Amino acid sequence: MAKHPVPKHRATATRGGRRYSTWKTKELKRLTKISTTVACPKCKSPRQPHTACPTCGYYRGRVVIDLAKKDTKKISKVKA
Ligand SMILES: [Zn+2]
Repeated sequence: MAKHPVPKHRATATRGGRRYSTWKTKELKRLTKISTTVACPKCKSPRQPHTACPTCGYYRGRVVIDLAKKDTKKISKVKA
């Protein structure tokens, strides 16, 4: 006897197709979710919802990411 799980019955094309159809809709939903963007209330540039704006560093009305600091760090790294 086989020591690994073996399917008792043959999976028909219909059954496989039904499984794939649900998987496909799920996957499409997941992929479309990633590309969802909302306009930043401060600079109006597109950003992902519930995330800080990559352009101005604002989230919920205040600065979360200090973009000026980030730039200076990058410059110093390049010099060294
Ligand atoms: Zn912004």
